Amino acid sequence: MRIKNRIFSSAALASAITLGLTSQAVAQQDWDAINEETLRHFRALLQFDTSDPPGRELPAAEYLRDVLEAEGFEVEMLANNDERPNVVTRLKGNGSKEPLLIMAHTDTVNVDPAKWTFPPFSATVDGGYVYGRGAVDDKDNLAAGLMVMLELKRQGIKLDRDVIFLAESGEEGATEFGIEFMINEHFDKIESEFCLAEGGSVARVNREVQYAGIQSVEKIPYQINLTATGVAGHGSVPLQTNPVVRLAKAMAAVADWPSPIRLNETTAAYFERLAGISPPDAAARYLAVLDPLGPKRI
Ligand SMILES: [Zn+2]
Repeated sequence: MRIKNRIFSSAALASAITLGLTSQAVAQQDWDAINEETLRHFRALLQFDTSDPPGRELPAAEYLRDVLEAEGFEVEMLANNDERPNVVTRLKGNGSKEPLLIMAHTDTVNVDPAKWTFPPFSATVDGGYVYGRGAVDDKDNLAAGLMVMLELKRQGIKLDRDVIFLAESGEEGATEFGIEFMINEHFDKIESEFCLAEGGSVARVNREVQYAGIQSVEKIPYQINLTATGVAGHGSVPLQTNPVVRLAKAMAAVADWPSPIRLNETTAAYFERLAGISPPDAAARYLAVLDPLGPKRI
């Protein structure tokens, strides 16, 4: 896995900072310094082996807690397993709007180091890329979310809504330690109108959302069962009537299918508001997403 760190740090951070807060302009910042700090946290988080199973997110959680506490945040470590805590903190808004939740998960899927060019927990920077397990799932969002909290506080941005940060454990198949636990035992700590999670998804957080990847319904999985029949053959004679050949053609047709893109109300509002607080060229790009000739709303 690799990620071009510049793209990640500026775009994710800027869009997250501006979402749903106030209409005040974000002050001119030293983005080089912010990029550098973001990369430092990103690499530090990648260097914790939190592959799940077994998970053991504790060191990553402690890292986040320590960074946040050093900046004056009150941080809670909420857990039903000492090795797998969830990290929660909150910036208070003026209460005129419901909270925004920024969440990311501290665990990663497993890894076979033999297949890696660089050790998967080295966070090696090479040629403008950062190599590490979790670099695009989900320690990129974790680092971005952390930086959003830090910058909102440092810049003293006045908030209409509370901004909550949740670093969740067990997303990769052990949600009983993470989001399920949080929803069942500590829902008041994360209840919010919007949630930014993996991939920048936006959703209303409610008790019905019982799984880790809280997302809006933009991504709709379709399961397709393909059954091919035909005559048996020999590998040296790939008959057109052979079921494997037919199956391959069917697979190719599925792969070539241009899946329609439709935006629901939540995501459309996200792009509209983002356009409203962006420079003209960026605003045009966001509004193009809503173009009636482009993606359709649902
Ligand atoms: Zn993920």
